[in-house]
Amino acid sequence: MDSTPPQQIRPGTFIDGSWRTPTGSDCFAVHDPATGKDLAHVAESTLDEADAALAAAAAVQTSWAMTPSRTRAEVLHRLDALVRERAAEFTALIVAEAGKRVADARAEVSYAADFLRWYAEEAVRLHGRFGDLPEGGATMYVSRRPVGPCLVLTPWNFPLAMITRKLAPALAAGCTAVVKPSEATPLTCFLLTDLLAEAGLPPGVVNVVSTARPAPLSERLLADPALRKVTFTGSTAVGRTLTRQAADRMIRTSMELGGDAPFLVLGDAEVEAAVTGVLHAKFRGSGQACTAANRILVASSVAEEFLGELGARVAAMHSGPGDDPRSSVGPLIDDRALTRTRQRVAAAIDSGFTLLAQGDTADTGGFFHPATLLRRDVRAADPARVGPDVEWFAPVAAVTVYDDEERLITDAADSESGLASYIFSRDLDRARRAANRLEVGMTAINSGLLSNAAVPFGGVKLSGHGREGGSEGIDAYLETHYLLEKMT
Ligand code: NAD
Repeated sequence: MDSTPPQQIRPGTFIDGSWRTPTGSDCFAVHDPATGKDLAHVAESTLDEADAALAAAAAVQTSWAMTPSRTRAEVLHRLDALVRERAAEFTALIVAEAGKRVADARAEVSYAADFLRWYAEEAVRLHGRFGDLPEGGATMYVSRRPVGPCLVLTPWNFPLAMITRKLAPALAAGCTAVVKPSEATPLTCFLLTDLLAEAGLPPGVVNVVSTARPAPLSERLLADPALRKVTFTGSTAVGRTLTRQAADRMIRTSMELGGDAPFLVLGDAEVEAAVTGVLHAKFRGSGQACTAANRILVASSVAEEFLGELGARVAAMHSGPGDDPRSSVGPLIDDRALTRTRQRVAAAIDSGFTLLAQGDTADTGGFFHPATLLRRDVRAADPARVGPDVEWFAPVAAVTVYDDEERLITDAADSESGLASYIFSRDLDRARRAANRLEVGMTAINSGLLSNAAVPFGGVKLSGHGREGGSEGIDAYLETHYLLEKMT
């Protein structure tokens, strides 16, 4: 795409506390989505290096598990402090490689550090239980042990937070890890890696591999008897493949997969709050979030006011570089995402949506899609599932207007995915009743934001299984052990 001069290849493999110097020329480029230009060339990890990374994690598994939980907690506290101290550098990297707006990137750094703090606090609260068996004569001791070495696979849309959301509970539980960041955004992961030793983490506890050809590498590691767990955030298609591969050796899995979040605006909703909710739930990160409002379902009684206000906001949006203060939306991650979004907008219009409003885009050569507002109307008698339902992953708000609120709720619930959902209503009982009918992992009432380190984040159905965050998030990294002691 550009004629960037050949760059030095930077290491992408971190084993046993040090970066491996690249020996060959096998590397992949990391792009700035706001310009399409290369930011860095990263050495591909070889399969032998992947083996070595897992071997390093396995070698220190026992000693890390035996490290007092207070010591593990202190490492996490120090890492939390270091991430916050270096927030400006992390922010700049996230803007550069993920294309986020500065405000969104800054919020991600803070959210990412929150997991380090939260699990530093949880690390010292891992207790078991004991008691007599009901028949008497013996005592049972139930304890919690770390699962063991974990493979951590993360996406590009939250290059820092998706790593800490997995790594913090893993380390708190006493697990070691091999991390493979997304090939689109490894640089943020590398900065975090550079802080591990300063935080006091012993060598080998966290190792990093990098590749733009992830399939052979993950297949290799999932076949290795040393691996005990794979934790993945990304698309449902890849999650399915990994779950199948994990089945061969009964490897534990956590799968945070794609979403199809319904955003319900009921007839008594406060319109201004609902519009603000869409701005958060749809346009943050250019719509590239698994929790992004994917289907916006609006009662006809408030539709004209809602669409009028949202349309004015969307028309005023500028898609531009994340570090340009005029940008209200950043670029999409790559050219493929831009082409796919354009095709989907055209398909939506073919299937009955009307284009209501569109913002403008910068001309810096980046992958900018204008903020877009689409509308369609569904009458009670219309057949179910009108038009395309895709995971937009783009700043495109597709609004469906309903005369019939019962149909609105039924359609909102009609999805094979089940991650997040949003409901706007002045009547909390009514909103809760609607929430109970949605088969999802998470619901926000009168808010377009729901993520927090203190809450269990995750989905059901094709959105995966397992929870990250909250007191639940550490369960994914623990096994339960039962010991029987007979009285003599
Ligand atoms: P992706 O599935 O293409 O890639 C995610 C990661 O998996 C990357 O590191 C990639 O290198 C790796 N990968 C790809 N193919 C692989 C394979 N065969 N074996 C092993 N690893 C492989 O997803 P993406 O495009 O990076 O991210 C977007 C998707 O992630 C969306 O569907 C989004 O909804 C989902 N997501 C989910 C959550 C959640 O918590 N549920 C959070 C963020 C993103």
